[in-house]
Amino acid sequence: MSICTIVGNWKMNTTVTEAVELVSAVASGLSSEISAEVVVCPPFISLVSVQLALHSSTISIGAQNLYHEMNGAYTGEISGGMLKNICQYVIVGHSERRSIFGETDVDVNLKVKAALGTGIAPIMCVGESLEERERGSANSVVESQVRGGLEGVDIGADVVVAYEPVWAVGTGQSASPEIAQAMMAHIRGTLEKIGGKDAASRVPLLYGGSVNAGNVGEYISQPDINGALVGGASLDAESFVEIVKVAASKS
Ligand code: PEP
Repeated sequence: MSICTIVGNWKMNTTVTEAVELVSAVASGLSSEISAEVVVCPPFISLVSVQLALHSSTISIGAQNLYHEMNGAYTGEISGGMLKNICQYVIVGHSERRSIFGETDVDVNLKVKAALGTGIAPIMCVGESLEERERGSANSVVESQVRGGLEGVDIGADVVVAYEPVWAVGTGQSASPEIAQAMMAHIRGTLEKIGGKDAASRVPLLYGGSVNAGNVGEYISQPDINGALVGGASLDAESFVEIVKVAASKS
């Protein structure tokens, strides 16, 4: 795996107009050849406008969530079938969805399967809380999230895994590159047990949690880190473009 993947998660930010302005600024900042897979994940209501704004760009689009059913009486939900002509990726199991909306590994597994079933690559987020890390159970918590979320899934397909320690998301307290690498090696080992060495080596592993242009290079230089999932810093075009450029230069 040589090129890195940098994903911007805009969360519940930007109006449609602001989303188009932001993605246009990112696209013009990255107009020269960049050897990175760049993905922006705007809110649902801006996906189509962002797709139109990106018509001649290599930047990919991701959704921030999906529901596992294809259609029907599920008021307020969005399915993979609705996203498939717009998005190449979808974030599933973000820690905010787990903690605020009560998503479990079973839900995450259904979403991973629904995404793959409609040809969209799931970016499955895993990560331990501070309390779990302090009590020494970070590895077992993350391993069980990986195993639960990927139950019955062929990891040779387009699966991406993002390790986002909950204590590092949106806090400005990023994990040290050593902590991130140690967990990534554990995730890679778990993926090997699930789907074999070859398939596991092809799964992009992204680090997420207070990534910025100043620290992304150290993450990308780690042997098991193939990219980053960026929240706050992806809302500023200049910062996000800088993150992509630094990451591309180190991968
Ligand atoms: C995220 O939202 O996935 C994230 C990692 O946020 P931040 O970069 O702001 O910590």
